[in-house]
Amino acid sequence: MGLTKLATSILLTLIPMCVIGHGSSGSSEEKISERNIVFPNVEGYTTLVTDLHTHSVFSDGHVWPKIRVGEALRDGLDGLAITEHLEYQPHRADILHPDRNRAYQQAREAAVQSDLLIIPGSEITRDMPAGHINAIFINDANKLIRVENPPNDHSDVGGFYAAAKQWPAQDAVEEAVKQGAFLFWNHPYWAAQTPDGIARINDFHALNAKNNKLHGIEIANGNTYSEEAFAIALKYNLTLIGVSDVHDLIDWDYEPINGGHRPVTLALSSDRSQNGLKEALFDRRTIVWFKNLLIGRPQHLNLLLSACISITKMEYQRGTSIAKVTFRNESDAQFTLKNTSELTFMELGDLLELPPHSDTTISVKLREKAKKIRMPFTVLNTLVAPKEHASITIEAAL
Ligand code: ZN
Repeated sequence: MGLTKLATSILLTLIPMCVIGHGSSGSSEEKISERNIVFPNVEGYTTLVTDLHTHSVFSDGHVWPKIRVGEALRDGLDGLAITEHLEYQPHRADILHPDRNRAYQQAREAAVQSDLLIIPGSEITRDMPAGHINAIFINDANKLIRVENPPNDHSDVGGFYAAAKQWPAQDAVEEAVKQGAFLFWNHPYWAAQTPDGIARINDFHALNAKNNKLHGIEIANGNTYSEEAFAIALKYNLTLIGVSDVHDLIDWDYEPINGGHRPVTLALSSDRSQNGLKEALFDRRTIVWFKNLLIGRPQHLNLLLSACISITKMEYQRGTSIAKVTFRNESDAQFTLKNTSELTFMELGDLLELPPHSDTTISVKLREKAKKIRMPFTVLNTLVAPKEHASITIEAAL
């Protein structure tokens, strides 16, 4: 009893942090928890911060699902999926795990006092060509695995995987599709399965993508980003996904105390709900935040950039045609804007840095005073295609 009460009180103290993060304007005056991942809502959509690929002790992770939930609340996530390997069960001697829905159920129980969305999911695990595939928004993980003749020795992890992978990956995909799942190809450039680290589409994934049985692809996973996976996503019209794939602790892997963050998928959702998130993923309305890079399709990145960056003030330095323009950045990203116009500035060259959650004032030199200034920039910490940055035009007015 005492333990339950303690757990509840810890959760309750975390809720306000989660609420501050999203759905609010996120203005720089607001007290924002250092650790929360904060991006503003965009025109027409709620911005949901999600991590759709994580692990717990129910496969090869090293923490209980409750700890994943605690980390997600500390990071201010809106959505979390714990996606255990169905077939790879290294803790099998100690956790037999007959019900593959347990990690999800445990996480749901741990998150019950909060508004964190817990997404049911599993990782279908095979050797190449199928590799690893996450199926999220499933109804029953147990139907995604079939093992004939498992080894009697529970410590025989390799033997269990060898038996489990006999069931064709395509059958597991078909079952997930039947459950209405959103499926994405995990780390298609993982060096353990792709020794040169270069993601290449193969027949298995190309066919499933064509038949609408593969919907997304990880372009960022943990500490890695794949330009080739990004190119595959654009060519095959797949949703861009970025995940932590955390097995240990977020604190150890990303050091949020030192300003680090896990990779997340920002989903532009109609509302803050499981259905809204699912629809956003199927409609490919996502932006990946990886290290300080924002990676997305131009239409989505433009919406996000317009919400993150605004002009709060413009005035002329007395007796001059030098305009003082104040930029506000309402996000966790540090933006680097490259000036692409003829305009020049008093205090800087062609690069303008906008630190997270702060105002930055620059002096723009004009030949003569104008009521409005249009300033086109390339945003260097974004990618709209491999090696291609987003462009924005910012308008300041008196
Ligand atoms: Zn994984």
